[in-house]
Amino acid sequence: MQNNLNEIEELINLISKFPGLGKKSAKRIALKLINNKEALVKPLAKVLGQVYKNVVRCKSCGNFKNEDKPCVCLAKNKSKKICVVENIADMWVIEQTGIFDGGYHILGGTLSNNNREDQLLIPSLINRVKNESINELILATSATVEGQTTAHYIQNVLKDTNVKISKLAQGLPIGSEIEFLDDGTLFSAFKNRSLINTS
Ligand SMILES: [Zn+2]
Repeated sequence: MQNNLNEIEELINLISKFPGLGKKSAKRIALKLINNKEALVKPLAKVLGQVYKNVVRCKSCGNFKNEDKPCVCLAKNKSKKICVVENIADMWVIEQTGIFDGGYHILGGTLSNNNREDQLLIPSLINRVKNESINELILATSATVEGQTTAHYIQNVLKDTNVKISKLAQGLPIGSEIEFLDDGTLFSAFKNRSLINTS
């Protein structure tokens, strides 16, 4: 590109870091932005500033919250159920199906070489189960080795509590990540979830 400005280079560079976007799409998006400064760049800059300043992860449930406001996890959880997911995108797809009316707990990943138990909000999950008198925990981790290892680990650390623990139905394709399941598959996996602790 000739006559290129550093600002544009930098913009393209940043946009190309988004998931699914390469340099070519990044350039198209940058162009769209620059050609629509009032309609796109201005509100985007404003909302990015607000997100940077106000949006934080709740230390208890892992969901996003406004820095100055209490998290949704503090509201009364009437169903006494918590659905445990790996990340926020997983929660969003489950919410979209409308099948679950309880609270969520976002682990922030799976147990693997990079994530230890205390980095995954597992200690706070144990606290929530005890303090919120949770009756049922639905483990909606992915059907990957890491997802299932994490589910098994959680089941194990909670074995001395009375909480009923269920797991999404085995119909989930092996290796599938929750985020990429279609609504129908997710819906039936939820409906047919099986109890994994019988105490
Ligand atoms: Zn929270």
